[in-house]
Amino acid sequence: MKSPENLKNNLIDPVCGMAVDPKHANAFATLEGSTYYFCAEGCRKAFEANPESI
Ligand SMILES: [Zn+2]
Repeated sequence: MKSPENLKNNLIDPVCGMAVDPKHANAFATLEGSTYYFCAEGCRKAFEANPESI
């Protein structure tokens, strides 16, 4: 997945690329001041396991 830097207002799950509505996100994580939203807990875990690969 490419960096979602230009898509800050469109919340994209950085693991699988799905659009995520933050009001209904199943999981989120913060890293270096940025908040990332995920479609599911499994994506969050994958991100947290290896955030530098995203
Ligand atoms: Zn996902």
